[in-house]
Amino acid sequence: ASTSSPAAPARSQAAFERALRLMPGGVNSPARAFGAVGGTPLFIERAEGPYLFDIDGHRYVDYIGSWGPMILGHAQAEVIAAITRAAERGTSYGAPTEAESQLAEQIIEAVPSIEKVRLVNSGTEATMSALRVARGATGRNKVIKFAGNYHGHVDALLVAAGSAAATLGAPDSPGVTPGAAGDTLVLSYNDVTQLENAFAAEGDQIAAVILEPVVGNMGCVVPAMEFLRTLRDLTTHHGSVLIFDEVMTGFRVAPGGAQELFGITPDMTTLGKIVGGGMPLGAYGGRTDIMDNVLPAGKVYQAGTLSGNPVAVAAGSATLKILKENPPYEQLERMGAKLAAGLDAAATAAGIPHSVTRVGSMMTLFFNPDRVTCWDDADRCDRDAFGRYFWGMIQKGIYMPCSQFEALFFSRLHDEAIIDETIDAAKEVLAGE
Ligand code: PMP
Repeated sequence: ASTSSPAAPARSQAAFERALRLMPGGVNSPARAFGAVGGTPLFIERAEGPYLFDIDGHRYVDYIGSWGPMILGHAQAEVIAAITRAAERGTSYGAPTEAESQLAEQIIEAVPSIEKVRLVNSGTEATMSALRVARGATGRNKVIKFAGNYHGHVDALLVAAGSAAATLGAPDSPGVTPGAAGDTLVLSYNDVTQLENAFAAEGDQIAAVILEPVVGNMGCVVPAMEFLRTLRDLTTHHGSVLIFDEVMTGFRVAPGGAQELFGITPDMTTLGKIVGGGMPLGAYGGRTDIMDNVLPAGKVYQAGTLSGNPVAVAAGSATLKILKENPPYEQLERMGAKLAAGLDAAATAAGIPHSVTRVGSMMTLFFNPDRVTCWDDADRCDRDAFGRYFWGMIQKGIYMPCSQFEALFFSRLHDEAIIDETIDAAKEVLAGE
C-alpha cells in the first residue's frame, strides 16, 4: 500500500485476499487493481444511476462509468428491460437476427465513416479486426500508432501502449514477438513533423494509421486540428487506411464520435463501450469497398461464436435509441465545463501545479503544470500527488479513475448537485484537509 492509501474496508480487504489466490493480481483486468495508487481495490456489490456501492456498504459517485459505457447511468430502466426481454427469448443462437440489423442501422446512421459494420464482442476485437482488414485490403503490412494510445490487447498494438500498460510500467508487453510488433511504427501524438517524415520515408508500405481521436488512455489528451488534417491528407495521398479508434469517444463526445465533432472522416472506425450499453459488444466498420473484404463477402477472415449476441445487441440498441431520442450531449458539455472549472480552481487555490484537459464528459486533472499534448508530457506528471488526490476523493465518496493515465467519465445523471459535491470534495482534498 502507498502512504496515501487509507485502511481498506474489511469486506473488500477479505474479498481481495481471496481473489488474489484465484486470479492474477486478484482481477480480470489490470486497471481495476488500484496498482498505481497502492492499496486495496473496492469490491462492488451494485450500481445505480450515478453511484457505485461497495460490499462494505459505502456509496460513491462514479467517475469511471465502467471505463466509458455507462453514459445513461447504471441500471437504466429501459436498458434493463430490453436486456431482460432479450434474455427470455434465449441468450445465443449462432444464427442471424433482425435485431443485429437494427443495431447496424443505428450505428451507420450515427457514425459518418461507417457504411457497413461488423459486430464483435469487445473493443480489442474491433481494433484487431480493423487492422487485419486494413492490411488485407491494402496488401501492405506496416501500421502507425501513437505512444500512449491504447487499442486493447492486440499484439501488434501493445507497443508504447497507454492505459494500464502505461500505468503499471508495461507499455511493451512481454509475450509480444518481434514478428507481431515489427511492422508497428510508434510516433508521438500531435507531432505533425514526425508524421510527415514517416510517410515520406515509407508511405507506400503503410497499411493503416490508428489513433484515439481524443485520447482517454494517457489521461484525456486533445488532438490539434492540424494533426487530424495532416493525418487525413497523408493517408489519402498514400492510399493508407485511416482508422479512428472511437471505442471511448463513440457516442460519448458526440453521437457520431470525435469524427463528427471535428469534421474529419476516417476510412474505418472501431467502437465498443457505449455501443454495447454495458454488455460485451464492440463493432468495426467503414467504407463499403473496405468492409466488403471481410469473409464471406471477401477473403479477410473474422468471426465469433457470440458476435451479435442478442442480449448485448438489445442493450446497445436500447442505449443508442435513448441517446438519439433524448440526447444528453449539451448537458454533458455544461456539466463537464463546470466540473473542469471547479477542479482547476480547486487545484489553483491549493497551489498545486496542474492542468486540466477535457472534451465533453471526458477529462483529466493532470498533476503537471504544462498542457499535456502527448505521452512525454503525460509522463512528467506528479504520480504521488495524483495518488493522494485519488485516495482523498475516495474517502469523500467520490470514485475517480485510479490512474493519472485514464480519463474520467460521467453520465447524464451526474447533475448540478453531484458536480458541486465533487468540486467541494476536491477543494478539501487538494488543500490537504
Ligand atoms: N480502444 C480504446 C480507445 C479503448 O479505450 C479500449 C478499452 N479501454 C479498447 C480499445 C479495448 O476495448 P476492450 O477493453 O473492450 O477490449
